[in-house]
This record gives sequence, C-alpha cells and structure tokens, in this order.
Amino acid sequence: MDSFPLLSLVVPFYNEEEMIGQFFARVIPELARIPDIRFEIVCVNDGSRDRTLDHLVAASRRDGRVRVIDLTRNFGKEAALTAAIHEARGDLIVPFDADLQDPPDVIGRLVDKWREGYDVVLARRVDRNADSLLKQWTAKSFYHVHNDVADVKIPENVGDFRLFTRTVCEALKALPESCRFMKGLFAWVGYRTAVVDYVREARAAGKTHFSGWKLWNFALEGITSFSTLPLRVWTYLGLSVALLALACAFWLAVRTLIYGIDVPGYASLATAILLLGGIQLIGIGVLGEYIGRIYLESKGRPVYLVRQRFEGTAPHA
Ligand code: UDP
Ligand code: MG
Repeated sequence: MDSFPLLSLVVPFYNEEEMIGQFFARVIPELARIPDIRFEIVCVNDGSRDRTLDHLVAASRRDGRVRVIDLTRNFGKEAALTAAIHEARGDLIVPFDADLQDPPDVIGRLVDKWREGYDVVLARRVDRNADSLLKQWTAKSFYHVHNDVADVKIPENVGDFRLFTRTVCEALKALPESCRFMKGLFAWVGYRTAVVDYVREARAAGKTHFSGWKLWNFALEGITSFSTLPLRVWTYLGLSVALLALACAFWLAVRTLIYGIDVPGYASLATAILLLGGIQLIGIGVLGEYIGRIYLESKGRPVYLVRQRFEGTAPHA
C-alpha cells in the first residue's frame, strides 16, 4: 500500500472556523475514494484570528493524514500557499481553497488525467456564475491585460486549483523571488499540461477575503512580476510627445513668420503643462511600483515564518 503515490492536498486557512467541519467532512471521503492513492492534507493556518487553528489541530488529532502548519501571522494567501507547497511531502500536489468553492470530486478527475501522463493538470472553471458580474468582468479584463503585456501567459479561468507532480513542485520551490504571484509562477515553470473543466460553486460559508482594492493590488503584482512593458512604454510615450512638440514648435514658428505674433494662448499652455505633468507623474508612479518591488526583493526576507507544526498522530481509518 505504501507504494501508492502520495497526494498532498495543500490548503491555506484564514479565519475559516465556520468552514472546517464541512471541509473535512466533504474532502476526506472524496480523497479516500480515489483509487490507488494515499493522501495527506497540509493545512496552513495563515494567522487566523478566530478558532481556525484549534479546529485544525483537533482535526489532525482525529485523523493522522491531516497536518497543520501554523504561521506566525497573516502573510496573505500567496505566502500561505507557498508555505503549504514547501511543506507538502506528496508525489502529487493539489492546492485547494478552504471554502469548498472548488468541488472536491474534481480532484479524482485531475488524478485520472495525470495518469494519462501529464505533469500539470489545470482545473478550469467553465462558468463563473457563482461570482458577481463585476468580479467576472474584472477577472476577464485582468487576464486580457496581463496576457497582452506579459511574456508568460496565464490561462484564463484557471485559479490555483490544479494538480502537479513532485518534479514541478521542486521547480517551483527553486524560484527565489519573495513576491509570490502563484498563478504566474505556475505558468512560468511550464511542463506538460492538460486541462479539466468544472463548475465553480459559491463559497459554502464565511465571506471572501479579497476586496476590490486587494484584487487591484493583486493584479498589479501579477503584471509587474511578469512584464517590464509598463516600464518600457515611457520611452515611446516620451518620444511621441517630444516629436509632437517639435512639430508643434515648427508650425508655431512658421505661423509667426507668416501672420506675426497673435494673442498669447494661456489656455493651451496650461492644458499642455497639466497634461504633461500628469503623464510624468504616472510614469514616476510606474517606476515606483517596480522600485518598491526591487526594494522588497532586495531585503531577501523569507516569504513566511512557521510558528509550529502539528503532525496528525492518530492512526487513520
Ligand atoms: N486565505 C489565506 N490568507 C489570506 C486570505 C485568504 O490563507 O490572507 C485563504 C482562505 O482561507 C481560502 C483561500 O485563501 O482558503 C481563498 O480565499 P477566498 O475564498 O477568500 O478568496 P476568493 O475565493 O474570494 O478569491
Ligand atoms: Mg473563495
């Protein structure tokens, strides 16, 4: 039995106390049904302020296949997921959300696909009706903008839910950056990839941790981590404006020679100054986005800190 591959379900938990009972009740039987596989559930408690940790530890006492990694504070989902991937011991790794938005029975289908010989199996949502219209629209726009400017394309409607092998996991772990935009990193490593379609459900309990502002910053993180186009665009913008100004100057000179000096144009002057000032500030802002990230990376701080690990000791069914 020990020769069966081990599947690590890696799950970040942040203030999910209402979810935990349902979570294990649904996920464990579903994993147990997958033939010829052993499994572990690596739960990372991302500095929850409710009783999430107690519930997780209790679960790991009941079932030896549940492991709990307690981080020292809330590091954010990407960091928690990074921690979970680092701690996973499986031959197959499946990142999973605690809120059961991704139906657990899809895991079996991912494994089936993996048996056909793929290194990565993506779970793609076929409809996002569970999300609000605004979220659907912003998500769509993000994928479009990101994929237009970034060298590494991220597949649309694919979240972190996927299956990948130990080889891919080691490749991910070897990436040194501390800004972990996981969707991008997953895409960056490549490997033989297949896709499985599924329908995403609404959150089973609790509420989302991602407000509009957080998602906006997340999108910026994604684009700045994987593209330098926003930096380079200023050269061309500056060049175009300078050329335009030259043409304008030439035209003004010619006009003065022919018609003489007319009434000075304060309005056009003010507009030009304001417009250029605005453009320059945007440019500086974009520089700031990148410099901020260089600054963060240069400190070389770890992505997360572990306070304690709880290994399930109970023999499992
Ligand atoms: N999460 C986390 N740390 C955070 C925020 C979220 O570990 O700072 C976890 C959360 O517990 C859940 C997953 O990340 O398991 C996805 O969060 P959520 O469902 O709120 O995101 P959404 O599905 O709305 O994008
Ligand atoms: Mg969710």
